[in-house]
Amino acid sequence: ETSTGGLPGDARIDALLAAAHERYRDHDEGVVADYIPILSTANPAWFGLSLTELNGSMHSLGDSEIEFSIQSISKAFVFALACDARGHRDVHDRIGVNNTGLPFNSVVAIELNDGSPMNPMVNAGAIATTALLPGETAAEIWESVLTGLSRFAGRQLDVDEEVYRSESATNQRNRAIARLLESYDRLEGDPLEIVDVYTRQCAVSVTASDLAVMGATLASGGVNPVTGLRVVSAEAARDTLTVLASCGMYERSGEWLFEIGLPAKSGVSGGIVAIVPGKGALGAFSPPLDTAGTSIRGQRSCAYLSRALGLNLFASA
Ligand code: GLU
Repeated sequence: ETSTGGLPGDARIDALLAAAHERYRDHDEGVVADYIPILSTANPAWFGLSLTELNGSMHSLGDSEIEFSIQSISKAFVFALACDARGHRDVHDRIGVNNTGLPFNSVVAIELNDGSPMNPMVNAGAIATTALLPGETAAEIWESVLTGLSRFAGRQLDVDEEVYRSESATNQRNRAIARLLESYDRLEGDPLEIVDVYTRQCAVSVTASDLAVMGATLASGGVNPVTGLRVVSAEAARDTLTVLASCGMYERSGEWLFEIGLPAKSGVSGGIVAIVPGKGALGAFSPPLDTAGTSIRGQRSCAYLSRALGLNLFASA
């Protein structure tokens, strides 16, 4: 039984999602993020898995409908919107596409590279990427961000105001990063206003099933498989997936690709989206993180499902 997208049939997908959930739900490694105070209130037992196929069919299990702030996973979709608005060459020249090998909020990475924001998946590059979205004012840019993220999800998304306030009160480091980029003339617009839009974008609430739909939109060349609407161009989707492969999983992107073989993005609230080009996407959510900032149950589940479903892009058999 094989579906048109090249994934195994529905019954097999459901059985393997259930097996992954069963295998990892009692794992108790990892620590819930607390550098954004509100995130520390998450329940460490939460664990949701979801898979969306390109024919729009959805498979979800566990806590896949619990809402959490999207955090860094927004970087992937905002970059896709920036690629769509500005094109391949412009984002390459303004942001960059190489991994820093350093933590996501590193200031050293900027200093070592003549003020370059380096890539759109670290905070410096993500803040500079947000500034590239359509809009004359910060309010208009925010409108582009929220509308764009909602189109990826196929439903109207909203900001969790409590998360926004908690991060706004504690994001001195991101403000410093924006000022540093400004000093190198590498940031469009007012630095603090752009950081505010970036902080709101990180506070947008999603579920694991939203992440699977959003990822499946990138897997299908920019068309949301549930709504049928085009969100970004095929080129923008392609360019986003390539950067996710090299930079999506923080400084462990190489290890992730070696074990799992899929472009992916994680965030400090415990979400992961992993994309299978031309087939679909996985969304995972569980708050306890490894030291780089990636959900431990999420990454174990993705590794298991990549093997069991035969998703590794580099496998010829
Ligand atoms: N809003 C978080 C920050 O800027 C996102 C970090 C993450 O998820 O990696 O620090």
